[in-house]
Amino acid sequence: PLQLMWFRDDLRTADNPALSSALAAGPVIAVFILDQQSPGIRPLGGAAKWWLHHGLKSLRAALEDLGIPLVLRKGPADSIMTELARQTNAQAVHWNRRYGQPERAVDTRAKTALRGLGREARSYPGTLLHEPWELLTKKGTGYKVFTPFYNALGDSAIRPPLPAPLGQDTFSAAGIPNGLELEDLELLPATAQWTAGLAAQWEPGEAPARHRLENVLESIAQDYPEHHDRPDLDGTSALSPALRWGHLGAHEMWDALGRLAAENPKAGAGATAMRRQLAWRDFCWHLYYHHPQLPDRNLRTDFDHFDWVWPEQDQQVASYVQLWQKGRTGFGLVDAGMQQLWQTGWMHNRVRMVAASLLVKNLQVHWKVGERWFWDTLVDADIASNTANWQWVAGSGADAAPYFRVFNPELQAKKFDPQGSYVSQFAPLAAQPIVDLKQSRLDALDAYDQMKLRL
Ligand code: FAD
Repeated sequence: PLQLMWFRDDLRTADNPALSSALAAGPVIAVFILDQQSPGIRPLGGAAKWWLHHGLKSLRAALEDLGIPLVLRKGPADSIMTELARQTNAQAVHWNRRYGQPERAVDTRAKTALRGLGREARSYPGTLLHEPWELLTKKGTGYKVFTPFYNALGDSAIRPPLPAPLGQDTFSAAGIPNGLELEDLELLPATAQWTAGLAAQWEPGEAPARHRLENVLESIAQDYPEHHDRPDLDGTSALSPALRWGHLGAHEMWDALGRLAAENPKAGAGATAMRRQLAWRDFCWHLYYHHPQLPDRNLRTDFDHFDWVWPEQDQQVASYVQLWQKGRTGFGLVDAGMQQLWQTGWMHNRVRMVAASLLVKNLQVHWKVGERWFWDTLVDADIASNTANWQWVAGSGADAAPYFRVFNPELQAKKFDPQGSYVSQFAPLAAQPIVDLKQSRLDALDAYDQMKLRL
């Protein structure tokens, strides 16, 4: 009996529990539905759409090699999926779970409708190392602090990755009406030339992600403890977009790093440190699952009383925000990061923290303003990681940086870009600083004291 595999944030064939189970049950048709309209779903940003277009192209080729056709659709995903199951007379629909509230609502509606039609709906854990309801504190709640979360993760059993499936005899989706071409999803911008920079930097897909993981295991992991904070070096995995889109499964990366640590003592510290970083991804998603307000509200509600400024309310602030977006703040490290982001759709983690801190602390702009810009420009834009990290920098998050810790972008540049090569690569032309670092830091601390007086 025919099986439908519903792809979403898991654009890969290996280590894909839903796909493996579908193939074990019968011939498979794969489906991807671009849903930008179901209630509460945040539409994808520009860079993410570019990635998705190419990621789907690459997935389609990989599935073709397995004899699996990929059907594309656009619209409210639960009703489209139910209709497809009816049209194809499929016995079951298989998917890997999602963890955002709006997406879960779509999946629940699909499950109910499919079961109403007498079809099976089977969901699997494929995206996170643990389901958010599995890893809980002694009180039975989700973790709000990373270190105990990480310790609990370390003590838990994490399943090994699943092998790539063997495939099936080629199966045609020719009988399915209204199939869309990839171009019909309209994921590529009509004009913006900036995608040339994205294309020069990235090759979205499962095979390139695995290739990069091999490089990480061979060399990058070993130097990770010394290099991971250095934006001037190729010192981190740069696998965040592959993880975001699921070209690479977190289990595969976790397992590979664990084996490296066990087999190669020289790389042990680096592999373990990178695993810890990977655990942050799960932590952000668990936090979002247990606190669905994470993208919209301060997790620490005392920050509701902070006197944030908004570009809509003040011309001067609007111009500062624009200079920040363009990488013209006059602080080399921030400007290089913002231009790296614009050109390549990615920014080094250390620089993300420094750039975000300048916006939310020295300029006192609400973190949502920066979060939205990152959402639109990052190829790894991920609602849990982006909003949790912005709240971390702003001080309003669950396990956040203390407010008084304001990054000094000049000292950070000296420390982490000692030869200035990152800055000269991305921001060779120095601009006039838009704020006085000392004074704006004092103003930020003062605003924080004012907030406390209002509580
Ligand atoms: P590595 O150092 O090689 O780490 C391996 C993997 O661990 C990463 O690929 C990523 O999946 C995960 N990871 C590492 N650090 C973090 C972290 N702090 N939080 C969550 N996961 C982490 N990451 C995103 O994936 N999407 C986002 O939208 C995003 N927005 C961010 C916004 C701000 C303001 C900040 C400070 C950080 C943000 N991050 C985000 C986290 C982090 O900057 C990136 O994941 C990291 O830079 C990716 O580089 P890498 O793959 O080389 O990381």
